[in-house]
Amino acid sequence: MKCLLEQGGYLIGWIIGTAFFYLRYLLAAGATFLFFYHFYPQRFRPKKIQKCLPRTKRMLEEMKYSFFTSLVFVAVVVGIYFLRLSGLTLLYPEIKEYGWGYFLFTLVFLIFVHDTYFYWMHRLMHHPRLFWIHKEHHRSRNPTPWTAFDFHPLEAVLEIAFVPVLVFVIPLHPAALFFLSFWLLLWNIVGHLGYELFPSRLTRHSLLKWLNTSTHHNLHHQQVQYNFGLYFNIWDSLMGTNNPRYLEIYHELTTKKPDGNQAVSSV
Ligand SMILES: [Zn+2]
Ligand SMILES: [Zn+2]
Repeated sequence: MKCLLEQGGYLIGWIIGTAFFYLRYLLAAGATFLFFYHFYPQRFRPKKIQKCLPRTKRMLEEMKYSFFTSLVFVAVVVGIYFLRLSGLTLLYPEIKEYGWGYFLFTLVFLIFVHDTYFYWMHRLMHHPRLFWIHKEHHRSRNPTPWTAFDFHPLEAVLEIAFVPVLVFVIPLHPAALFFLSFWLLLWNIVGHLGYELFPSRLTRHSLLKWLNTSTHHNLHHQQVQYNFGLYFNIWDSLMGTNNPRYLEIYHELTTKKPDGNQAVSSV
């Protein structure tokens, strides 16, 4: 693979990388969607955040924009790969160079840096003059796993823009960036799942309460002036941007008993 990339150059790396990245999204979002929306919707009905279902047309558009996002993300990653070959980055090839302790530190560091970057970049995109960049993502008022990478191409550029900066600032092993891409996919699927699977006690736990939930991001798709955070509830709490009804709605959803006969319609 490495040889193929080096011989084939940027274009072949971009094509192979995009195929991998998009296929990974299709498999993860597709499997989650089939499980919750097709095979077991009745079993999880009490956990459904919005009772209606999104239209198929919207989900197909989300898949289309997620392909563009894959193109953008991989274009940047392959660019970084070739910059590394020229020795222009701080990426290092062997984990033992800095040790496992440092490698594990960079995993946590990347998550926290990304969380901070995302909050402020996201909040900025909600400025009336910039919202056109973020509008595509908010066309889904009732998100599903397919919404995970539904971004306008310019938003996709902004979403990944912190990575090419970081590789010049701090020594990182490529596996740490690979880990971040998996973590991002996982969390974007959780955030857009449409079902709340976390337990009710989570928001009362001294440590786990700082974790964001599916309800938290789902509410952002319904009321865009609140809940800008991604992985953690740190910045929303500090800046007072949590939806005032978040905890109440989370508690309702996570303590609801199965009722078995709620109507489900399309929007
Ligand atoms: Zn979203
Ligand atoms: Zn938003």
